[in-house]
Amino acid sequence: MSATPQRFGGGCFASPPPRPPFFVDAALLEQPLSVLPGVGPSMTRRLSGLGLVTVRDLIDHYPRRYEDFTERKRIADLRLGEESTVRGTIQRVNAERTARRGVRLTKAVVRDESGAVEAIWFNQPYLAEVFAEGMEVSLRGVYKPSGRRPSFIVKAHEILAESGETVHTEGIVPVYPASEEVSARFLRGLLHLVRPLMRTLPDPLPAWVRAREGLPCRADTMLAVHAPRTLEEARAARARLVLEELLLMQLGLLLHKRHEEARARARALPAPDGLVERFIGGLPFTLTDYQECAIREIHGDLCGVRPMRRLLQGDVGSGKTVVALYALLRAVEAGAQGAFMAPTETLAEQHMETIEQLVAGLARAELLTSRLTAAERRHALARIAGGEVDIVVGTHALIQGDVAFANLAVGVVDEQHRFGVMQRDELSARAVTEGVMPHMLYMTATPIPRSLALTVYGDLDVTTIGGSPAGRTPVTTRLVGEEKRAQGYEFIRRQLDRGRQAYVVCPIIEESEALSATAAAKEAQRLGATEFRDYRLAVIHGQMKPIERERVMAAFRAGRIDVLVATSVIEVGIDVANATVMMVESAERFGLAQLHQLRGRVGRGTVKSYCLLFADTTTRNADARLKAMLETTNGFALADRDLEIRGEGQLFGARQSGLPDLKVAKLTRDRAVVQHARNLAREILDRDPALDQAGDQPLAEALQATFGEAAAGLLKP
Ligand code: ADP
Ligand code: MG
Repeated sequence: MSATPQRFGGGCFASPPPRPPFFVDAALLEQPLSVLPGVGPSMTRRLSGLGLVTVRDLIDHYPRRYEDFTERKRIADLRLGEESTVRGTIQRVNAERTARRGVRLTKAVVRDESGAVEAIWFNQPYLAEVFAEGMEVSLRGVYKPSGRRPSFIVKAHEILAESGETVHTEGIVPVYPASEEVSARFLRGLLHLVRPLMRTLPDPLPAWVRAREGLPCRADTMLAVHAPRTLEEARAARARLVLEELLLMQLGLLLHKRHEEARARARALPAPDGLVERFIGGLPFTLTDYQECAIREIHGDLCGVRPMRRLLQGDVGSGKTVVALYALLRAVEAGAQGAFMAPTETLAEQHMETIEQLVAGLARAELLTSRLTAAERRHALARIAGGEVDIVVGTHALIQGDVAFANLAVGVVDEQHRFGVMQRDELSARAVTEGVMPHMLYMTATPIPRSLALTVYGDLDVTTIGGSPAGRTPVTTRLVGEEKRAQGYEFIRRQLDRGRQAYVVCPIIEESEALSATAAAKEAQRLGATEFRDYRLAVIHGQMKPIERERVMAAFRAGRIDVLVATSVIEVGIDVANATVMMVESAERFGLAQLHQLRGRVGRGTVKSYCLLFADTTTRNADARLKAMLETTNGFALADRDLEIRGEGQLFGARQSGLPDLKVAKLTRDRAVVQHARNLAREILDRDPALDQAGDQPLAEALQATFGEAAAGLLKP
């Protein structure tokens, strides 16, 4: 029977704490690592390269994996070829070089009560100085034939202290993420040193949560993560850390949401009457079930005084714009204003055009972008402030400088992930008048699985438009290698000959719009002189004057241009049903989300459409991305694949600033826990909205440590 004491299940602190090697109290947590013995200025610098600055950072540096060194043998019982741990006394040490290759060896005879063995280390000549006769050591290694007698080839060793406690060679040994400058072994030593501190850590989880969820207490969790006695113990501890991390994140997001909601009331908009009905009735198509459903949810929000904060996510071409227009018209019908913010000029202009088509005669719309001249802008601002405009369409210009709305009741932010969290909320923040704030709808065509949406946009309600309007045929995607380039062009020409139109997308060069533009212009020239000599061809890129771009777009829409050579400016929004083929140059340079957006520009009508990815696949990631593009046209599936391929860092990049990094949890793997954490967070805040009741202090503090000062503000009633 195993004599492993129960760490979990019984009370905490099942084993008596060893005597701390130096003064330990909670204040130590925030101290720099240089307070620890053995950490000098140089090591401090090297540790900071791993992101380890304070003692807290160190404690939160979790093992990447564990080595199972539980197998321990008497020297007499060693078997050839097997890895195990032995303990013994050093009898003789010497350093030598092998005759043939000059490899430096350290050899020691080690004896236990059963016998003796020769232990060998390679290329660590200094060890001869470290070991001395009579030292008690623990050695992990493999017993192998060597010379006349078998030897013990050492993988890890340690000199045993009086307590006989081991760190590196026995039991379950943690392996920490290390660097070239700091070894995993050194980190293991440091973490061993601060182990007593782990016992003093307050538990952020309320006792009732711990009891109900059957979770180990914080102190035991940390000990079990850094020094587990069994792998199962380590697994259980990790599970608790994952839940805790996701719970803190959800608490922060929920608090933010409640704070926003409490800050102001919105105007309850009257039920739709003539105007909105005329809009719906006048649409050139019937709404899909998903659109109807989204409209119903939004209707529910708009009828209340609680400001709407809803994320509408749906694949490219799923028909989000109509839903947005519905929300905006509800504001207009109530005699108030709506604002429609998009991340690019092109997209804003396109929305303006859609509004002019679908909302003609129902509302007065105005475009506000940075392309306006000073005089035009002044004029527009005056009309917006004076209430002479019903719907304002624009870019960042909407949240810059002196924009003032007469009466903004509904705001829509398209492609919201292109805006930072702060910018995202700026539109509503600046429209608050006398405590009344607008209802907000955030839209995104970069769909992410629902549980992930909860994490990334946890402060928003989520509506998903699945599928796309009927009558669409899925786009056929092909990967075209350099040797098939000519055939690719031939295929496009055949489409053009049937009266269809085509896009040729040139890659962005090193983030420089100017260079990309030049490259696109050159490619257009080349194609115009060669492959598409007999067709009408034009180029469009971000460096063109708005008026020129508009002229090109209008001509393409009207069918007066056959081939449009573009930089990825056509990535979002552009909508021309007769364009049935797209070729993407250097497709391997694009991200999966970007490729998906690009491909969404074709297949917008009922005619079969094609996407040709011209690619030179040299990296494995690019290969995996392109393969995924061939396998599915489903944006959600692609988003999933993208997460797998890129890892999750991107989700929380600069653009999502304001969210803490996840140290243990992995959104793809721990998806179910995200939902669970969200429910738990809600329950906790329902019991104690400001987290100021007895027992919830540690949780409030952990929240502050995670989100910084911002959290304190959120907790104030
Ligand atoms: P996205 O969700 O990418 O913003 P859009 O709103 O631009 O998509 O819609 C894409 C195209 O589908 C537009 O041309 C739009 O007019 C059309 N559309 C939207 N809803 C429907 C529908 N219910 N039936 C047919 N076509 C629709
Ligand atoms: Mg759109």
